[in-house]
Amino acid sequence: MYAEILSDKLNSLKESGQYREFVTINRICGQYPLAKLNGKEDEQSVVVWCSNDYLGMSQHPVVTAAMHDAIRLYGAGSGGSRNIGGTHYHYTLLESSLADWHGKEAALVFPTGYSSNDATLQCLLRLFPNCIVFSDELNHASIINGIRSAKADRAIFRHNDVDHLEELLASQPRNRAKIIVFESIYSMDGDIAPIEKITNLASKYNALTFLDEVHAIGMYGPRGAGMAAELGVADRIDIIQGTMAKAIGVIGGYIASSALLIDAVRSFASGFIFTTSLPPAVVAACYASVEYLKSSDKERKELHRKTIMLRETLTQAGIPVMQSSETHILPVLIGDAKKCKAAAQRLLEKHKIYLQPINSPTVPIGTERFRVNVTPNHTEEQILQLTDALKEVFHYFDIPFAQSAADVY
Ligand code: PMP
Repeated sequence: MYAEILSDKLNSLKESGQYREFVTINRICGQYPLAKLNGKEDEQSVVVWCSNDYLGMSQHPVVTAAMHDAIRLYGAGSGGSRNIGGTHYHYTLLESSLADWHGKEAALVFPTGYSSNDATLQCLLRLFPNCIVFSDELNHASIINGIRSAKADRAIFRHNDVDHLEELLASQPRNRAKIIVFESIYSMDGDIAPIEKITNLASKYNALTFLDEVHAIGMYGPRGAGMAAELGVADRIDIIQGTMAKAIGVIGGYIASSALLIDAVRSFASGFIFTTSLPPAVVAACYASVEYLKSSDKERKELHRKTIMLRETLTQAGIPVMQSSETHILPVLIGDAKKCKAAAQRLLEKHKIYLQPINSPTVPIGTERFRVNVTPNHTEEQILQLTDALKEVFHYFDIPFAQSAADVY
């Protein structure tokens, strides 16, 4: 009976074209964005166009050297949770560096960005009696999960719709505890939240603000401190959350906030307390990467320059880059799950281009897409090669080209 239920569930995923298959891909150090398929070193290289290693920091010599040095000195694992032997001194360095980055009193590191959202929201929503959370409808699964697990009252506002958010806030008593949770850059559409307007509403209705800056840190704002910093409103955000798995190029998540709030989360969040801490070498690599990105503008400038070039080249070729995108995340609309998957397969086999299909439930049915990111490491030649390859697969599978900008939402 159990096996039958599981097979049925998987079969229905396969029939709808939503079944996910892993591609074994070895990104060889020093060669990014090139990678080898199937773990075979003698295989022809493919060009990776969908990695969250946005600045190529996972292979940066400063970061890999820090990791090597720390492994030699401290070994592979941390040996315990933060409370039971797992607080290596690199944690102290990293947390002070993160707090300084965001202009906050303190920071707290978690094993992943996912767990930092999940554990913090679950914890805060339980600590504040009768708290209600206001959450953007496109928030990431880790936010949704944290909110659901807390079983707090929730009000979901339409994506980036401040009027709707205000309507929902105004319907609650002023003295009721409230947290507004949103992202600065949304990962599948590449659009930016109206951060300042949301902070104004938070002040007006006496709410805390929790901002996920996962897709912004390292790339936007002075010293790469994120989109709130770019817009000059970081001091008006109560809790900034980030990841060290994307632009920072390693792994781990964190929150930065007041010393009091960090102490409370550290003391009460079970997703923080009851898990083994990251290995010292990982924390050392994160620290090296954050410190480097604070002082170097080179990588982010290249990222933005090449994003403009890629957007223009694709648009001129009629490839439908979704107009929602205002950032380095360029969603290319395919609009059909099966075609999206088949196009990805052809890009890989014929053109040696690696782009994962993005299907439901990550994006709504009918808006299946490729999520394309250029990095400082991609060349102009690779940008032209991607454009030609996309044109070929669009023709091959009869995927609609953009007739005009208005066509592409
Ligand atoms: N927040 C957002 C908006 C994300 O897109 C992701 C992951 N893609 C996470 C949080 C989780 O971060 P991590 O991968 O570090 O667990």
